[in-house]
Amino acid sequence: MSETATMTGLKVWKCAKCGAQFFPRRLLCLRCESPELAEDGHVHEAVVEEITVVRHVLGQEGWKPRRIANVRTPGNLMLTVGLLDESQIGQRIEIGQDGTAPVGRAKG
Ligand SMILES: [Zn+2]
Repeated sequence: MSETATMTGLKVWKCAKCGAQFFPRRLLCLRCESPELAEDGHVHEAVVEEITVVRHVLGQEGWKPRRIANVRTPGNLMLTVGLLDESQIGQRIEIGQDGTAPVGRAKG
């Protein structure tokens, strides 16, 4: 996690058949198994539903505890993002990517 994270949203994919959204991209829709998934623009915000603190990671020296959140987007997509701040459950956050990792922080 770093200061360089850009809050430009996360690119998501949508099933052309049933409308379900996905991140990251899947080969088949998890709901109806259609292979017809199309880019569906970017999602910019979500609400925090659950927070987990990752205190240790096997084989990682110097790991600092990180807060990982399960969040729900307005399109009802559940995502796991790294929290960059002290956002709490129920809070609306903005989401983006730090490299390839999905991250989120309070809307400011
Ligand atoms: Zn589908």
